[in-house]
Formats: sequence, C-alpha cells, structure tokens
Amino acid sequence: MQSRWNDIDAKAFEDAAVAAGQDPDLGLRIYTSRIIGADPDLVLHGGGNTSVKVTDVHGEAIIHIKGSGWDLDTIEAPGLPAVRMAPLLAARHGKKLTDPEMVALLRANLIDPASPNPSVEALLHAFLPFRFVDHTHATAILALADQKDMAETVRRIYGERLAFVPYVMPGFDLSIEADKIYRAQPDCEGLWLENHGLFTFADTAKASYDLMIEFVTMAEQELAAEGATLAGPQESDGIEDEALLQRLEKALRGEGSPFATALHMDYRSTPAIRDYVSRADIDEVSARGTVTPDHVIRIKPWPMIIKNDDGEQQIAEALAEYRARYEAYFARNAARADEPKTILDTYPRVIVIKGEGMVALGASESAARIGGDLCEQATRAINAAESYGRFTPISEADLFDMEYWTLEQAKLKVARA
Ligand SMILES: [Zn+2]
Repeated sequence: MQSRWNDIDAKAFEDAAVAAGQDPDLGLRIYTSRIIGADPDLVLHGGGNTSVKVTDVHGEAIIHIKGSGWDLDTIEAPGLPAVRMAPLLAARHGKKLTDPEMVALLRANLIDPASPNPSVEALLHAFLPFRFVDHTHATAILALADQKDMAETVRRIYGERLAFVPYVMPGFDLSIEADKIYRAQPDCEGLWLENHGLFTFADTAKASYDLMIEFVTMAEQELAAEGATLAGPQESDGIEDEALLQRLEKALRGEGSPFATALHMDYRSTPAIRDYVSRADIDEVSARGTVTPDHVIRIKPWPMIIKNDDGEQQIAEALAEYRARYEAYFARNAARADEPKTILDTYPRVIVIKGEGMVALGASESAARIGGDLCEQATRAINAAESYGRFTPISEADLFDMEYWTLEQAKLKVARA
C-alpha cells in the first residue's frame, strides 16, 4: 500500500489550523484523516475513525474524535468534535455502561453541544495514551482478520508490534476489552481487531499514519506469499442486462416494499465480482456474513441470489424466499436479545446474479452507490480470504447484534432524515 503523505500538503493543513486559531495538530489530524479516507482499501463511506488529543485554550485536555455522519475523506474540523478527556478516562474504572449511556457520557462532555455524536469507539481512542489514533477497515487486514484462530499468525507476521483483540462488538465493551489488551502489551504499536479491522497509534500524525500503511502492507505481503494476492479496486466493465434489471425492479417495487416509491440499482461487474459470483459455492460463501461488522447495517447479512435467465416468476420466488429467511433470522435472534427488537424491512440490499455481477439496491442513489462500493471491496476481500484459507466473518448472532444494535438503528434514522 502506497503512503499518500506529502510534506507540503501536511504543512498547509497545519498552517490552516493555526490561522483558524486551532491547534496545529488538529490540522494534521484532518490531513491524515483525509489521506486515509482517500484510499478505498483503508476505509469506505463513514467507516473507520481517527482522533487527536490536544490541550485547549483553558489548559484542559480534550480529544477531537470523528463524529458520526462524517466521512474521513472530506472531514473538516466540525467533523472532529472536541470532548473533555478526564470524564472519559474515568469511565475506564467506572461501572459498566450500556451503549446509550456511553453516548450520553460522550455528549455530556462535548465542548460544543451542537456537535455530532462522537464515534462509538471514542472511549478506546481516549484510553490509548497516544496523541494520534487511527482506525481502519483495510481490505488486506479484513482478508486475514476474517479467518479462524489468527492470533498465532498475527504474532508470526507482526511479532509484539500488534496486540490481538478477539471479536467484541464495537461500543463500550470493545473499548474496555481492547484497552485491557493494550495495557497487557503496552509496547505494541497497534491493535488487530479480529473480524473487524486495525488500530494504530503514535504521538505524531505521520508516525501513526505510517504505521497504518506499514501494517496493511505487511498484510498484503502475507496474502501474496500464500498465493492469495489481493486485487486492487476495480471499475465495473461488465455489460448490464437491462431486461433482467427490469424484471428485478418489478419484483422489488411491490406493495409494502421499502423501494415502492424509489428504487436505485447500482450494477457492478468487475473481474473480482465475476470471480466471486461464479463460485460453485456462492450460495454458501455469501451466506456467511459481512467482511466487517458495520457493513451489515447497509447491506444486510447476506445477498439475494438469482440467475441471469430467471424470469419474473423465479425472481418473485427468490424474493419471497429471501424475505422468509430474513424473518426466520430475526425471530431466531430477537428471541435471545435483552430488549425487544423491531424487525426492519425484510428486503435484500444486494442481489447476486450468478456468473455475472451484483446489484446494490437503495431508496436513494447514494445508498445504492455506497452499497455497490461495499460489495466491490467485500468481493476482493472474500476472494483473497478464500484463497488464503477460509473466509470466516462474525457469527450470525454477532451480525444480528450489530444490525439490531440500538445505536446503529439511531444512526440510520439520522441518515434517512
Ligand atoms: Zn471499526
């Protein structure tokens, strides 16, 4: 992976922060957040988060942490709300918080109460005793993080430089667990989050960014050494089957559908997508889950699968089958939840057309495009994961907990508004 760091650009961001009366490190934080966000093989659409700890004009320690609703590639100072550090650090030794309580704690300590919600990973950022903390869902990391029992392999590749964090759902529990693991290995330079992604940290923006690039490159090399070379981002070059998309649209826009009034379809057919949808075991592999937990919010746990010559009747049947399967998934998992859950709509967000391509669905053009981008990355990660070993993402129960997480449901409501 190529570093996008450039001294002249970095200096310009630093100078702009100073001119705006901000800490120069906030300028550098914006700069490296943007160059992380500019690489689709590091983060996509609202994924990942970054922070910087500074002292404000009153001499108080604060952390600027990515706010929800912002993308790293276009982030500006208001997208990195400032939160008082001391109350966050106190949470490390306080009582266990529910995720809504954690959000309330973060909001209560915002310097500007009009700021967006700080990232749900804010506490972990605060706990890590480094000025800069970077977190991504890099494609190469996911191809390896979505394998079973990787602790030994991570140690072989990275030695003591990374600490291995077994899967915990993002939020309060992950912050507490990951911090404990960090403190047991305080010389590490990053955290490997099983089934999820990577954290790096350092006292300068450049050092933390450089570690991210270095560790992702090491993951790419590990894949390549095992013959699982990761393909780079690819443009769609397959031909859209208009008639098939029309048959699909007809089925998807029926009464009661979330797409009844608006349906946008993002069709993609790249070499990696064709490899994926041509797999003999596509039904089974695609049912395993998403490459990183928060993708389930946008694309649901699995796609609906059709064949290119399916007629209206067959597509209607595939949809009915998908919806019944989704209802069963909900019923099975809602039964063990601590709080009552309300089922979301039961329609797919992604359609696999066997042998040909994938279609991401959205009620808006941007939702469809974002879904398409996630599929583009996911197919490359899964193809590499399968040639390396076996693609093994989080379990169905963990996917459900993420999809039906109180905080994520709130985030979607904001996105729809
Ligand atoms: Zn994450």
